[in-house]
Amino acid sequence: MRAGAKASTTPYGAIGQPGASAANRVDAKTIRAFRRRVLRWGEHNGGAYPWRKSRSLYRILVSEFMLHRTQASQVVPVYRAFVAEYPNLDVSVQADIRRQRRLLGPLGLYWRSEGMLKALRALWIDHRGVPADYDRLLAVEGIGPYIAGAIVCFSKNVPVALVDANTVRVVGRTMGLMLQGEARRRKEMRETIGDLCDPSRPREYYYAMIDLAHNVCRPRQPECRICPLLSLPCQYGQKVMAPQRRRAEAK
Ligand code: SF4
Repeated sequence: MRAGAKASTTPYGAIGQPGASAANRVDAKTIRAFRRRVLRWGEHNGGAYPWRKSRSLYRILVSEFMLHRTQASQVVPVYRAFVAEYPNLDVSVQADIRRQRRLLGPLGLYWRSEGMLKALRALWIDHRGVPADYDRLLAVEGIGPYIAGAIVCFSKNVPVALVDANTVRVVGRTMGLMLQGEARRRKEMRETIGDLCDPSRPREYYYAMIDLAHNVCRPRQPECRICPLLSLPCQYGQKVMAPQRRRAEAK
């Protein structure tokens, strides 16, 4: 949920609704152009990862834990093996935990695997399943705002403000918001990310944003030259491209 955003009750819990209290920092025309460019880029360049074909709350939860600080290409074989052996929460919580740890081993980050297995057990004890409800998910130990939002967004196509390093980088650079320090905790950042989310196609929008952040708007050496947001204009991208333009003009 956007910090400071007015929460509204939805069938999926109290989620800050994108655009519900427009921040007015970005005008409506720019918001529409941003969404259109991100979605169009995603249609042609989006990754076909196995978890993106699923609408299962459990599988999306598993994939989101695995993707934390890990490349999607590294997650694919581990995700496939894990859900093949443990296709749903019932099977997963009754399984041999040492076997599960071995399957998750290639991903590293032991604490992350333990957090996922703990969250799965807590969901079974409290709900006998994975609820399609932001607040109930958030109440489970180990599930934070990003994973709770991603689960309802990717499974139920609910528009939410998904705030992580990827969305912060793309939105911060494009809209000229400060990226230093704890940028993701700033109200302005969180509200702007929420306002930019396309409420009619949130799932596709965020998949495209994630891929754009990984492949084009990388933390170092962003590929502004081929980015659909450069001419929006993206403030950071214009600065990146300025020396190249000057060199081209001098020739
Ligand atoms: S133009 Fe460059 S900095 Fe701006 S969003 Fe695209 S890749 Fe990122």
